[in-house]
Amino acid sequence: MRIDSLSAPAMVAWQLTRDCNLACLHCCTDSAPGRALPGELPRERALSLAREIAEAGVPYALIAGGEPSLVSHFGEVCAALSQGGVWLKVETNGQSFDVSALRGLRVRSVQVSLDGATRRVYARQRPGGDLEKALACGRAVRAAGLPLEITFAPTLLNIDEAGAVIDLALELGAFRFNTGRLMRLGTAAKLWQRLEPSQERYERFLALLERRERELAGRLELCFRPFSLPEDARALRREPPGTLLILPDGRVKVAAPLPYTCFDVTKRPFLEAWDAYRKSFGDPRVLRAFERLAADPASSAKANEWVDLESVAFDLPAVV
Ligand code: SF4
Repeated sequence: MRIDSLSAPAMVAWQLTRDCNLACLHCCTDSAPGRALPGELPRERALSLAREIAEAGVPYALIAGGEPSLVSHFGEVCAALSQGGVWLKVETNGQSFDVSALRGLRVRSVQVSLDGATRRVYARQRPGGDLEKALACGRAVRAAGLPLEITFAPTLLNIDEAGAVIDLALELGAFRFNTGRLMRLGTAAKLWQRLEPSQERYERFLALLERRERELAGRLELCFRPFSLPEDARALRREPPGTLLILPDGRVKVAAPLPYTCFDVTKRPFLEAWDAYRKSFGDPRVLRAFERLAADPASSAKANEWVDLESVAFDLPAVV
């Protein structure tokens, strides 16, 4: 496995908080206002972890949430990583994001979610959200000279606006548009019957992405492969990514669509997390969970009910 040749993760994906100022129907992290996780890392530990990540030689960190900018030490964490030589990608819903927090830092990109091209559809999928604020955030990112990515989560509510959202991404000057089949995780899993597009609409969506990919080559990169969780599971099983996913309370998750955690940075030094992560990919429970996911995408529905690999000696029951 490629991860065996790496002495440190190629990337850390760090969910700073589960709290959010929106309550999106498709949210894969169960985020909403006031939903910070009990035991989220306090400022001091978050800053020392940022230093440990940099000292470990991790080149790249994705800062996510929830809405990461709601955390009072968001800017300090970004600065500590950047000063340690780590490049940043920051994910935001763009509702109250202050781009100046990233001034002078090593920022590879800022990703703004745009789940609709009209205010009505955007607000239906993102209750509490305002499309105009997200667009203004995208413009502010570009005005600050930072590279912009747009992400789009397709649902029954917004899939017909996908083409118009791609046009908005172009207008804003984004260099990348990220999407894929809706993930059956978190809030999305609970509202699945209301949200899941039909197979026929997915086929049209995929055809649109393939056509626009050809048309926009060299202007806007469309990232949509692997397109579905089963495809993703097969790819992850074959070649585990060099990415450590850190949850808001410091636990390290093996992979977003699996329930397993393999480490806790509040109990042991960060440097040991990489070995624990690599070891987890030899664990038969993890391998079987990937196989289940490849055969049945519904098995991701309870992936946010985390289970520490060290605390259970048995397989979790399959989700029905
Ligand atoms: S999808 Fe993003 S913006 Fe929406 S509730 Fe979840 S974390 Fe917040």
